[in-house]
Amino acid sequence: ILYNKIVELKGNIRVFCRCRPLSSEETAEGASMAIDFEFAKDGELSVKAAHGAHKKAFKFDAVFSPEEDQEKVFERTSPLVTSLLDGYNVCIFAYGQTGTGKTFTMEGTEEARGVNYRTLEELFRIIKERQGQYLYEITVSVLEVYNEQIHDLLLSGSQPGMTAKRLEVRQVADGVHHVPGLVEAHVNNMNEVWNALQTGSKARAVGLTNANERSSRSHCIVCVMVKGENLINGECTRSKLWLIDLAGSERVGKTDAQGERLKEAQNINRSLSALGDVVSALASKSPHIPFRNSKLTHLLQDSLGGDSKTLMFVQISPNENDVGETLCSLNFASRVR
Ligand code: ADP
Ligand code: MG
Repeated sequence: ILYNKIVELKGNIRVFCRCRPLSSEETAEGASMAIDFEFAKDGELSVKAAHGAHKKAFKFDAVFSPEEDQEKVFERTSPLVTSLLDGYNVCIFAYGQTGTGKTFTMEGTEEARGVNYRTLEELFRIIKERQGQYLYEITVSVLEVYNEQIHDLLLSGSQPGMTAKRLEVRQVADGVHHVPGLVEAHVNNMNEVWNALQTGSKARAVGLTNANERSSRSHCIVCVMVKGENLINGECTRSKLWLIDLAGSERVGKTDAQGERLKEAQNINRSLSALGDVVSALASKSPHIPFRNSKLTHLLQDSLGGDSKTLMFVQISPNENDVGETLCSLNFASRVR
């Protein structure tokens, strides 16, 4: 109730900032922290990034310092699961420079599961709690947007050796978008979810010399579709949850990249700025939302805006050496909030 009250007051877009810890290598090299965390009296949280003597402050709906763990982060994310089961579309993004913890926040590790796993776990927990009152059907899809092309990772993952199939977005009805041919795996429990997620990550790695490198240049997307039926009054809902580990936001200079790599970098820049344009147009309630400027925003068209809920994690590095990129990410964040 409190959360919905806050949404009413503040709109449907939230921005959380998460700062990773210094790695042991960085600490060994004597790297220094360029980030300050401040908790203001009014409950607003801010991050200060130091650039030389100058410090600039940014405000967020939540700020997670390096000490805060996956559980703490999920505590602030979990209310969205109830929204999803109540019929709202939800998008959760991780934005930031490569190496700042986007994949850590979304996928996490075996010992420290991230938002994706925890969200689905919470989803099945609430479904169980609502048993007898509601009937839910859940499907999971795993896809990737790479070089402005959509690939189905469940299809290619279940058929080793096959290259990921290319897909397109179609409008099937007024305001409803669909990706024909996309594999939607029915899942009834966390075991089945886990299998689907694993199949997806394996597919990402197929035929690549450096899977990690590719994943930093593509948007990795998990889509959870929910069909709900209220058994008491027969009302039906359909909603979607998008969990998106975005491509690295670092700027690539024309001098550093040529050929394929340059084209890739331009596509990443284009789609991340298109996403920024869409979210900031939504935040400022602009009458025209430029969904068609990139594959990613087109794909998410029916799940961004309206009464959909959006959460963006802006991931940053504490390292002084990264402060240029950190300021870019923080500026991006203040544009969408
Ligand atoms: P990205 O996906 O943005 O490129 P990663 O998620 O791969 O970044 O994170 C880079 C490294 O930092 C990984 O080894 C990851 O485990 C570690 N890391 C990131 N965030 C955290 C955190 N909050 N706590 C502990 N380790 C982290
Ligand atoms: Mg990553």
